[in-house]
Amino acid sequence: GAPLLEVTDLRVAIARGDDEIRPVDGVSFSIRQGQTFALLGESGCGKSMTALALARLLPDTGQICGGSVHLAGEDVLALPEAAMRRVRGGRIGMIFQEPSTSLNPVMTVGAQIMEALARHCPPGVVLADEACGLLEAVGIPDPARRLRDFPFQFSGGMKQRVMIAIALAGRPQLLIADEPTTALDVTIQAQVLDLLVAIQRARGMGMLLITHDLGVVARVAHTVGVMYAGEIVETGARTDFFAAPLHPYSRKLFAALPGADRRGAALEAPEGSVPGLDRVFQGCRFAERCPMAFDRCDEEAPGWHRLGEQAVRCHLYEGVSVPRPFVPAQAL
Ligand code: SF4
Ligand code: MG
Repeated sequence: GAPLLEVTDLRVAIARGDDEIRPVDGVSFSIRQGQTFALLGESGCGKSMTALALARLLPDTGQICGGSVHLAGEDVLALPEAAMRRVRGGRIGMIFQEPSTSLNPVMTVGAQIMEALARHCPPGVVLADEACGLLEAVGIPDPARRLRDFPFQFSGGMKQRVMIAIALAGRPQLLIADEPTTALDVTIQAQVLDLLVAIQRARGMGMLLITHDLGVVARVAHTVGVMYAGEIVETGARTDFFAAPLHPYSRKLFAALPGADRRGAALEAPEGSVPGLDRVFQGCRFAERCPMAFDRCDEEAPGWHRLGEQAVRCHLYEGVSVPRPFVPAQAL
């Protein structure tokens, strides 16, 4: 069937004084129902802006200047704002990095969950019961009592579980999770990720998971898109990606992992940084940092090349049809 979410050639412009930057510059991907798509990249590459754009939550200085977003076939960018407010927190649930800043410190957790439920539940639903069920579903012990507690009475991991409960209040078809575990301790991260996976499976939701962490991708994603400087430069199934990352940037991400275990560990930023987006790129955006760059890379932006189920935006793959296995020790 058709994908749950289809993002096509999405473009975002943000005004900066007299100038503008393009943090999202022609991004396309799709997410099937019941599947998790991970958008992977360093900070500043446009991942969060992509998520904000498709929920139509861009800052006032920003606007979508091209492309389309379809949720279950419906044109999200064409919806009137009132309808979009129902979609947000309804068919699209959202979780962000910092649970502390998303929760209201002077309202009980129960009141906040019930507020979300009231916006989206049909009349007749007993909100307190429903809220209790949600806290239970996200693994918070003694939920009936905990509903009366304030956010400060919860640990970081428990607060993030509360955020997940609030995001689930509208029974979303799509969950957007932007670095949902980055602010948490490592052991808690794994628990919260496992919870997200369990809930996503049980409810058959699609999930857009934004992360800079290869370990997170390994744990939760079905498919992956690697983002760099406003563009997706590689996409494919997670298994193919881990067996043979294709783009030189992807390979640098793996090579930057400490030790040989590519699956468990957190990502260290590879040397160099994402270029500023306040300029027009002529060639490949990664050329300055790419150890494989050659003359053509500075002159011509690479197009997409397909290798089986994977796709990569890099001149090296012109005319190549079979990915070579990737051995991290020999990375570039
Ligand atoms: Fe490197 Fe050239 Fe490929 Fe860009 S197109 S990633 S610079 S080899
Ligand atoms: Mg971000």
